[in-house]
Amino acid sequence: MQYRRMGSTGLMLSALGLGSWVTFAGALDRGAARRLVARAFDAGINLFDSAENYAHGQAEALLGDVIADLRLPRDAICLCSKAFFGAAPEPRPTQRGLSRKHLREACDAALRRLHTDYLDLFLCHRPDPDTPVEETVAAMDQLVRAGKVLYWGTSEWPVERIRAALRCAREAGMTPPSVEQAQYNLLHRERVEFEYAPLYDEPGLGLIGWSPLASGQLSGKYAEGRVPEDSRQARRDHGWHPRMLPGDGRTQASSVARLQALAAAQDVAPAVLAIAWCLRNPKLSSALLGCSSQAQLEENLGALALAGRLDAATMAQLDALAGA
Ligand code: NDP
Repeated sequence: MQYRRMGSTGLMLSALGLGSWVTFAGALDRGAARRLVARAFDAGINLFDSAENYAHGQAEALLGDVIADLRLPRDAICLCSKAFFGAAPEPRPTQRGLSRKHLREACDAALRRLHTDYLDLFLCHRPDPDTPVEETVAAMDQLVRAGKVLYWGTSEWPVERIRAALRCAREAGMTPPSVEQAQYNLLHRERVEFEYAPLYDEPGLGLIGWSPLASGQLSGKYAEGRVPEDSRQARRDHGWHPRMLPGDGRTQASSVARLQALAAAQDVAPAVLAIAWCLRNPKLSSALLGCSSQAQLEENLGALALAGRLDAATMAQLDALAGA
């Protein structure tokens, strides 16, 4: 495994992390989730990601159960959770958003479900237009001061909103956000590479990427309109919807076809090449894998070695691919 600092913090994250969206309490039952987490930890993965809304809290609960069951050393792993959408299927107004009230209650609920007394990372899952950013920053600062959260951050916030949070924290002597969790893959890269670019060096924003395979699209298994029976698109697991796929159908098809050709030339699976491409971005602290099986995890771990040996010509072809 390779470890990278999370922006300008001292926290070392594994370059590949393991996520729990649509897989935990979805495709993976307890036994399979336990084996997956055990293998991920053995491979050096230290970042485990969840959120209050994943399977309405059940993903957090399953992740917490298997980590406790495996007795993973708490000081060797980083637990990340997120709040905004609410855990209830139809959350009431105070059960969602980024108010002081919901952030405190969501944090306490995450601690209970994950069987821990602190979260390494607690993220605001989306911006909340109904809550002043000052209230959110102060609520996160209080969670940090209370020892319930070590680092806080954002997910899919517009850069101007992140800047406002940074400014507010600086002026009030409060803890600033230190990481953004954003979609990052060959089909969706503008926000990470352009919008957030001014924030990486100063103030040193960390970056965690989600959906490195664009929900499995970049594995090539959906090529030519095929939808394998046991795939995310066929299952329509908790919270997944086709509108979450980046790009339009035609761009996707042509990009995936080109990726498949490049992967064949390297004698690797397209998924491995797509993840390796993400890892080549030096601003990326960690890419979160989603794995519905042990075999997928094994395959995807191969991206670490491949990233180190991709030559400039292949990187240029990959970089050109999304605009195909
Ligand atoms: P990916 O884009 O990597 O998609 C993962 C899915 O692709 C798997 O569940 C599996 O689905 C399929 N897959 C994975 N590896 C392979 C392979 N080698 N060959 C073929 N198919 C493969 O990641 P996710 O979309 O799952 O996102 C990763 C994590 O990021 C999430 O678990 C979550 O923690 C986080 N996230 C954060 C978001 C945010 O807003 N902050 C939003 C979304 C995710 P299947 O086998 O079922 O087809």
